[in-house]
Amino acid sequence: MEITVLGKSPAWQDVGGACSGYLVSEGDTKILIDCGNGVFGKLREHADYAEIDAVVVSHMHADHFFDLIPFAFANSFALRSSGLPGAVPSGPAEPSETSLFSPPGSTEAFGMVTGVWGMPDLIPQSFDYREYDPSEVLELGPLKVSFQFVPHYIDAWAIAVTGSSGGRFVFGADCRPNEELVGFAEGADVLLAEATLLVPEPDPDDRGHLTPFEAGEHARDAGVDRLVLTHISDEVDPDWATASAAEAFAGRIDVAFEGMSLDV
Ligand SMILES: [Zn+2]
Ligand SMILES: [Zn+2]
Repeated sequence: MEITVLGKSPAWQDVGGACSGYLVSEGDTKILIDCGNGVFGKLREHADYAEIDAVVVSHMHADHFFDLIPFAFANSFALRSSGLPGAVPSGPAEPSETSLFSPPGSTEAFGMVTGVWGMPDLIPQSFDYREYDPSEVLELGPLKVSFQFVPHYIDAWAIAVTGSSGGRFVFGADCRPNEELVGFAEGADVLLAEATLLVPEPDPDDRGHLTPFEAGEHARDAGVDRLVLTHISDEVDPDWATASAAEAFAGRIDVAFEGMSLDV
């Protein structure tokens, strides 16, 4: 199983960057975890969007789903498979059969966003669409995908992907410090944890993100092999972030970058 970082920015993009998006592939199966702003163009640098088997969304913040809008337009217009003069065929003849698994309640949220310009069904109609049940395990080719609620400003779900060889990758979504992620990530090969903050938010009752040190605490407590810090701005010194996480976690630590490849 290979994970490619398409975007690692927090809610505002790095220079030339993209928000949350991770391509996970094994064999011919390709799934996209999150599709934040900027991710669709980055995805096309690595894979044909028509060959994405499924998109799985962690939570309904813009930096995790906004590029479902261009993805939906690409699927809906299907220019290249139209057979019309001027269209450049560049992939399969059929429009997208990509599945979209989005969080409970997302249908209404998508409708509010794209309803602004009178297309409330744009996203659900442009994919093989359904809301996931966080208690289910999705079986997508050789990949098994499961969910864990984590506390954030809105409902959010950490996502684990297990490959056919048993390797396990856990994406912590966005979250404040919590025990749920520690339990869910226990023994994972790679924990991809957000490290948005320089210092904890001042109000302990109104937190939604982690510092690099706190991400390290989660990696340590979960006993993972490797920690990758993500959802981190290019305005944060990556050496500082790595050193901060290393105060808590003794294993391998990297800061995510676009195009980064992880073998699990
Ligand atoms: Zn969020
Ligand atoms: Zn976010």
